[in-house]
Amino acid sequence: MIHIGPGGTGGLGYEEGLQYCHQHKLSCLEVEFTHGVQMSPATAKSVGRIAETNKVLLSVHAPYFINLVSKEKEKIIASQKRIIDSCARGNYFYSALFRKKVPIVFHAGYYQDIDKSDVYESVRDRILELQEVIAEQDWNVLLCPELTGKPTQFGDENELLRLAQETGCGMTIDFAHVLARYNGTVDYASLIRKLPQSFHAHYSGINYGLKGEKNHVPVDIAAWKKIALLLKKHDKNVTLICESPDPLRDAVKMRTWVPAVARR
Ligand SMILES: [Zn+2]
Repeated sequence: MIHIGPGGTGGLGYEEGLQYCHQHKLSCLEVEFTHGVQMSPATAKSVGRIAETNKVLLSVHAPYFINLVSKEKEKIIASQKRIIDSCARGNYFYSALFRKKVPIVFHAGYYQDIDKSDVYESVRDRILELQEVIAEQDWNVLLCPELTGKPTQFGDENELLRLAQETGCGMTIDFAHVLARYNGTVDYASLIRKLPQSFHAHYSGINYGLKGEKNHVPVDIAAWKKIALLLKKHDKNVTLICESPDPLRDAVKMRTWVPAVARR
């Protein structure tokens, strides 16, 4: 099963954006807390209800300003708080219709000049701490650190696979970031073979250079089609968020290449 939907509402707002998804057979949407968690719990509850009415699975993108491996302790605590606030809202997005923990997407941090294995251990330990809070609060959410688009950022596919194994967290595989991270050289077939049966994912077109990701651009449908066929071939369960500059219309285009995916 592959769910496809937009990152954000493309400026429509949740009421209209979620209706658009329903009308165009898009069955997921990512709520983006890009610059901070400003949504009130009451609003989160109502967005959750609107999504359920429209049979749309919600996920959350935590704020960009997160670094779980900072040398300054206050920055780590502030980063963890941004993730916890995202989880608290995300819990309202849980839908009995899908019975699926709500993915909480975040970029875990930067390598800086720290040894990569120490960075890995810091991220893992901070995730374990966050999971304790999630368990205490009994929130229906799943931490899904993202495969990042720059070689200076923590989060390649092997680190994410190991984190999932050692902490039970999920993962967000950004098929555009991976291209940028490796400067255009990606074997999608072997990547997809390595991935778990179920995962959260992002896609868009992307500009990149030697330092990795520059910016997201519209989806190239021919490139997307190759990935879609691999996902189908390996029977993956994916919620796939389109992060192009025109996320709703590009998501519709992407969905047409996986015609069997629509839930209804
Ligand atoms: Zn992201």
